Amino acid sequence: MSLHEKDTIRENLDDDVYASIDLTVSMPKYQFPQEEQDPRCAFSVVRDELMLDGNSRQNLATFCQTWAEPEVHELMDLCMDKNMVDKDEYPQTAEIEARCVHMLADLWNSPAGANTIGCSTTGSSEAAMLGGMAMKRHWEAQRKAAGKPIDKPNLVTGPVQVCWHKFARYWDIELREIPMDKDRMLMTPDEVLKRCDENTIGVVPTLGVTFTCQYEPVKEVAEALDRLQAESGLDVRMHVDGASGGFLAPFCAPDLEWDFRIPRVKSINTSGHKFGLSPLGVGWIVWRDPADLPEELIFWVNYLGGNMRDIGLNFSRPGGQVVCQYYNFLRLGKEGYRKIHEACYDTAQYIAEQIDEIGLFDVIYNGQMDAGIPALCWKMKDGTDPGFSLYDLADRLRTRGWQVPAYSLPAHLDDLPVQRILVRHGVSRDLGTLLVADIKRAIEYFEKHPVQNSMTAKDASGFHH
Ligand SMILES: *Cc1c(COP(=O)(O)O)cnc(C)c1O
Repeated sequence: MSLHEKDTIRENLDDDVYASIDLTVSMPKYQFPQEEQDPRCAFSVVRDELMLDGNSRQNLATFCQTWAEPEVHELMDLCMDKNMVDKDEYPQTAEIEARCVHMLADLWNSPAGANTIGCSTTGSSEAAMLGGMAMKRHWEAQRKAAGKPIDKPNLVTGPVQVCWHKFARYWDIELREIPMDKDRMLMTPDEVLKRCDENTIGVVPTLGVTFTCQYEPVKEVAEALDRLQAESGLDVRMHVDGASGGFLAPFCAPDLEWDFRIPRVKSINTSGHKFGLSPLGVGWIVWRDPADLPEELIFWVNYLGGNMRDIGLNFSRPGGQVVCQYYNFLRLGKEGYRKIHEACYDTAQYIAEQIDEIGLFDVIYNGQMDAGIPALCWKMKDGTDPGFSLYDLADRLRTRGWQVPAYSLPAHLDDLPVQRILVRHGVSRDLGTLLVADIKRAIEYFEKHPVQNSMTAKDASGFHH
């Protein structure tokens, strides 16, 4: 190597990242790169591109956690190599998962206590698939035993999250989703009964409906189904989609009966990464009793050493989120979860009052602790046209980094736009105050600069959570 080359190499090593040769060219975007690159340079390019994603803390559309304690970051780092499926290799991670299932069963008042069966999943969507499949299998077994056909299963729900649409489509089940009505945005016992028949595999109420954030009346629906059974013999099971509410109601509305206190509730799913306060990538499902999980859904695998029970759609899956879930349980307990969530409810109610005072909007849900999740949701006042749409407002707020989604409701209110704010761990009162000031400023802006061509649902980017 010539002396001259050595100089060049030394010079390159000392280069400031942004002065390096590597970064003077545009990076490959869609073709596989030919050559290697200095990790510092590649890292800078990737990290910088992520800046354009928007600031997750200001993303008030998502239900998922965007702030975590430093200890959670450290545990995630320690768990980089933990594969949830390798239960024999990482028996302690598997043990931690099992403890979480028991703690959740306890939190949700499972009578089977220590015998309850359940597992972690990638999120509520996978958990919902498992809960749905268990109901379908159970229904099929009953029908077969009675010599009846099993070709027309249906599922009765209120306005559900997209995961239930997926479940119905992937598994060929007729989804009987109760349409919304101007005065009724949730399922009611009567509307449920109208749709149940001998082909109904189950009824799924949601604790924290995606569109309005409210709780559906689980107990009232269960009582209606009890009456149906007394009158007709039809025994329809319930699964509760507690994606958000499963980690809220036990702490903030402990008297609300929605869980295993109701015998008809056979399984519950929740998202650990929502109000369970874990990092992205964990959900849970718990069955009331081991008998409620049909044997066919359990796989026994022996090629990892040992004979291990495996329930779930995935094979390999990261273990860090599960470990952090356990950390949160130990760290916070019921008391800690209650304090964090109550602070969020308070902030949600404060923002709701402020939005109401502006005078242009009707608050549909104001963050009331026993009626829904820490969030708020509003629409334009009937018959008012302030000269801008909720989509315009959402767009304007983006100039300050806020992501406050405007979207249309499902059938039959699909021509009614609403706007929603999720208040999560880390959205403080102070941040809420700044947001309200920006909302008011945006409205003043529209007064001075009238919108020529108001945005509609078609122009708005989708927010589907
Ligand atoms: C978020 C959500 C889901 C989907 O959960 P993931 O954890 O994102 O898979 C399902 N149902 C409801 C009610 C939700 O809020």
